Amino acid sequence: MSRRKIVAGNWKMNLDRAMARELAAAVAARQAEAGRAELVLCPPAVYLETVGNAIAGSGVALGAQNAHAMPGGAYTGEVADCMLLDLGCRFVILGHSERRLLCGETDAAVNAKAKAALAAGLMPIVCVGETLEDREGGRTEAVVTTQINGSLAGLSAADLARTVVAYEPVWAIGTGKVATPQQAQEVHALIRGLLATLASPAVAAGVRIQYGGSVKPDNAADLARQPDIDGALVGGASLKADDFLGIAAAFGG
Ligand code: PEP
Repeated sequence: MSRRKIVAGNWKMNLDRAMARELAAAVAARQAEAGRAELVLCPPAVYLETVGNAIAGSGVALGAQNAHAMPGGAYTGEVADCMLLDLGCRFVILGHSERRLLCGETDAAVNAKAKAALAAGLMPIVCVGETLEDREGGRTEAVVTTQINGSLAGLSAADLARTVVAYEPVWAIGTGKVATPQQAQEVHALIRGLLATLASPAVAAGVRIQYGGSVKPDNAADLARQPDIDGALVGGASLKADDFLGIAAAFGG
């Protein structure tokens, strides 16, 4: 099955409003450089509206970096899926390793958020990935299996078909140490096998699995050639239009 590649920029807690507007406008104006790849920009929540306006009508999609599992109520500081939809979001990143490690998000919490996002009409980008300690201890397969089964538990086949998975080895995020294409492909194939068990081989064949972790324009092409790597979740390199579009071009060609 041919899967449309998807390249998402996770801006994390970076940029100010003017910079966010400028970067989004540049990506929208140069979107053709991404070829057939789908582009998603995930700015800080406070800049979603600014970025949404800058990319309006361009085909570049808007995504959030997190959302709460509840649709509303007494949750100080949190943002609900319906609010993200209201601002034009189509995607929401869930279970990023920084949230798992720094905010204590568990697979159960990510699962609740994924179900809520899907019910609200958003497409979740669910992140998984092992730490260096896990990898060196030979536990990559076990850790990723637990994260996938826990984070995606109970999702219907239709929900899984609208879910994007991002494999992001923690040791590769923001470190400049990218996984080799072979290391990444091995885990992506594992994930696709797990999705086949959760739903069916046909559903699994349609799910897009992004790689994330120090993706740059000069390593993207080798990753993009792997059969189960369907795009990238990009942190640092998404803050520069040239770098982000260079990566997108490698996946969209
Ligand atoms: C990320 O945080 O999702 C990420 C992949 O970061 P970087 O590209 O900077 O490694």
